[in-house]
Amino acid sequence: MVQRKVTYRLYPTAAQVATLEHQRWVHCLLWNEALAERRRAWGERQESLGFSAQCKRLTEWRAQSKLLRGINVQSEQVTLKRLDLAFQHFFRRVNNGDKPGFPRFKPLHRFKGWGYKTHGDGWRLVTNERMKHGTLRLAGVGNVPIRGKPRTPGTPKTCEIIKRGHQWYASMTLDCEPVREHGKKLGGLDWGVATFATVATPEGTKPIDNPRHLAGTLNAIRRVQRDISRKEEAAKKASGKTRGFPVSNRLRREYDRLRRLHRKVANQRHDFLHQTTAALISEFAVLGLEDLNIKNMTASGGQHKKGLNRSILDAAGGAFHQLLGYKAEEAGAWAMEVPTRQLKPSQTCHACGRRQKKPLRQRQHICPCGASCSRDENAARVLLSWIEQRLSGREPAEAWREVRPEHPSGAPALPEKRETHAIV
Ligand SMILES: [Zn+2]
Repeated sequence: MVQRKVTYRLYPTAAQVATLEHQRWVHCLLWNEALAERRRAWGERQESLGFSAQCKRLTEWRAQSKLLRGINVQSEQVTLKRLDLAFQHFFRRVNNGDKPGFPRFKPLHRFKGWGYKTHGDGWRLVTNERMKHGTLRLAGVGNVPIRGKPRTPGTPKTCEIIKRGHQWYASMTLDCEPVREHGKKLGGLDWGVATFATVATPEGTKPIDNPRHLAGTLNAIRRVQRDISRKEEAAKKASGKTRGFPVSNRLRREYDRLRRLHRKVANQRHDFLHQTTAALISEFAVLGLEDLNIKNMTASGGQHKKGLNRSILDAAGGAFHQLLGYKAEEAGAWAMEVPTRQLKPSQTCHACGRRQKKPLRQRQHICPCGASCSRDENAARVLLSWIEQRLSGREPAEAWREVRPEHPSGAPALPEKRETHAIV
């Protein structure tokens, strides 16, 4: 059993929007009030209030306040839980000696939404058996039409109601039993510069192209950003202020557009990564990957100019390995990072094994042995032949133990989580 997320877009009526806004406002009040109480308890009595103490207080507050009584109690506990997590975060950073930010009071516009922890308590999802579209029944709000579908249907567990821009979403966790089968091939996968990646199989190499729609959206982002800075400049000049200049309705609309486009890019990238990793697992039984840390180190050296497009896809590397890792695990396939530091895929000839350093701008691999192909193709083939040699008829797990003896054999071949770059 694994947990997955699914996000549905809500299509509330005007009256339902008013109720959703009201509930968001009450949750925001509760957050701020609970935070104030924690601060008072600490300031006056050096007492640190915990989650359960605040839940007890919530019962008293509900007895006094009609506002709080009007809302599902579990969802109010979730807001208290979030505050509790914010404090735990804070204390962890204090203990680590980091510079912590104290949990903050939130104005309504920074308060994104609220959550529920049990399906059937305050919320109920009604969809068909594939869980595509349907309605969400919310306490106090009624039946809200929703659109969206999970990649793997499952049992709804928790739900969060989120307001983004002018739109409302429900993000749910599902308990799923995914069914996934892996292919039979062995392969090596090298991250590209011109293409997203190159995959080598015993039958030959093929590129995985960069997602096509992404480029169009990125162009649109550049255009809107240019428009915005032009309008901001004009507004600064007209008002004589560099900060706090008046924002026209037209400029506000441009900000909205930019936000929507950024969301679109994130969605397109997310879809692309899911589809690509699923396709790879359905084709391969074992995939050799580069060690991303090393790849990123060399890529950030600044040898080649990276555009917006590239930086967004580079940032996807961690997510790509993570998705590939868990999909491989579900299917019983192997996606493993080969010891790139020793193997040096880009400097080694796939045909004869001869090593020669080549600068990053050299995109072609030409070896005295007669081998000649693109740099990316060569690297992918080196990864593949490493996989072939290591396996030579054995089970992947056995070969894996030999290369990384410190790695527990039951554990997934790839780490669960990785730090990725922020999107710029
Ligand atoms: Zn050679």
